[in-house]
Amino acid sequence: MPVRVRIAPSPTGDPHVGTAYIALFNYCFAKHEGGSFVLRIEDTDRTRSTPESEQAILRALRWVGLVWDEGPDVGGPFGPYRQSERGEIYRRHADVLLERGRAYRCFCTAERLGELREDQKLAKLPPGYDGRCRKLAAEEGAARAAAGEVHVVRLAMPREGTTVFTDRLRGPLEFENAKIDDQVLLKSDGFPTYHLANVVDDHLMEITHVIRAEEWISSTPKHVVLYDAFGWQAPEFVHMPLLRNADRSKISKRKNPVSLDYYEGAGILSETLLNFLGLMGWSFGGDREKFTLPEMIEAFDFARVSLGGPVFDLEKLSWLNGLYLRELSDDAFLARLRAWRLSDEHLRRLVPLLRERVRRLDEFIPSAEFFLSGDLDLARCGVNLVPKGRGAKETGTVLAAIVDEYETIRGNWTVAALEACSRAFAEQQAWKTKELFMALRVAATGRTMSPPLFESMELLGKEQVRRRLRLAADFLLAQPQPQPPKA
Ligand code: GLU
Repeated sequence: MPVRVRIAPSPTGDPHVGTAYIALFNYCFAKHEGGSFVLRIEDTDRTRSTPESEQAILRALRWVGLVWDEGPDVGGPFGPYRQSERGEIYRRHADVLLERGRAYRCFCTAERLGELREDQKLAKLPPGYDGRCRKLAAEEGAARAAAGEVHVVRLAMPREGTTVFTDRLRGPLEFENAKIDDQVLLKSDGFPTYHLANVVDDHLMEITHVIRAEEWISSTPKHVVLYDAFGWQAPEFVHMPLLRNADRSKISKRKNPVSLDYYEGAGILSETLLNFLGLMGWSFGGDREKFTLPEMIEAFDFARVSLGGPVFDLEKLSWLNGLYLRELSDDAFLARLRAWRLSDEHLRRLVPLLRERVRRLDEFIPSAEFFLSGDLDLARCGVNLVPKGRGAKETGTVLAAIVDEYETIRGNWTVAALEACSRAFAEQQAWKTKELFMALRVAATGRTMSPPLFESMELLGKEQVRRRLRLAADFLLAQPQPQPPKA
């Protein structure tokens, strides 16, 4: 059987570095085996999925340079590749499970489920559905559904025994069925949950190996039960170790930039990023750290993955990038600079913001410096971060909070959106807009005087702005607090 693998990102946020990491391992395995690499969009969460996020993910993955053989944009023999376009398929499959008694209709209201959760919490029991509707006769369920009663479809998990599957990297893993919830498969809006859609699609798309992050291990026994209920053979499972922050916690935007857009904006070459992600949990052999994508494909073997929890170290990434940059010819280096921030397109956006501020052309580069550099020298501009009458700690707290607030601006990082969000935030914090805007200006640009704040932030881009504000917040929160005077 030809090898077929997939990545299945959910378009609910910015393009995540973890997606590129998992894509790389799928890609290398597929190409090593002469197989196909598929991109599927898992947009079944209607409240969180957005077309902007899907576009951003596709764009970032194209920048990374892992070319998919089939996907929503390029098509392929197993489409559609966007789950929101496959609703009928999932409903049909849910019906099969209902007919076989491997799933049942559940009419419990949100209110009842809320009470159940509360009771379980009080009794210190693990949360989970208590199976009330599992006792309903299938005909009664069907009749109530036909009469239009709102319901979901749940998986009838076996109550006894265990579910076992073999993970390529971890060997056999065993789960007690009694501890696994009767998972919702089809929601009351008729949309499938991740579990149903994922299993149905992996089967129909003839995926042979599911290579995904370790955080999905706990879902896999439910998937194995679903494969069994459909009478299908499950694919092989490979759960890759999660990327970690330096303190070994799961990689998070709190401690590392996680958006691929950040790395592109920081001038990390895509080949460096792939090499670096390849070093995460995988060894080329010997102590070789620098290798190209074709070399990794050639040498690819899951036996070289270690489960230690690879640390995503920005310093090491920069070091590796330096090696790649130094190898380029002068012309190639120049081409990279141009493709990065010195393109006509980018300069054309800088000129209107800066031209009023320079008297001579030789003032242009200094005035543009904060648009073309990475992290700012906070020790130098730090004192100006704190508005008059405010303390370092409260300013740090406010800046940290607005970083989260800006996270909600998706695919819409514009002057208007930034201004509306920032004004509303100032009001909510009971800060004068003048105070907030000054703190933002210094944190984002390193200056007390700059081109218009929101225009500058729009041009700097979401990732750069969020990182600078986050670093400024950390800087302020780490300041020694003034001691009360001794009595
Ligand atoms: N949609 C899931 C995600 O966002 C896919 C997980 C899987 O690969 O099964 O990562």
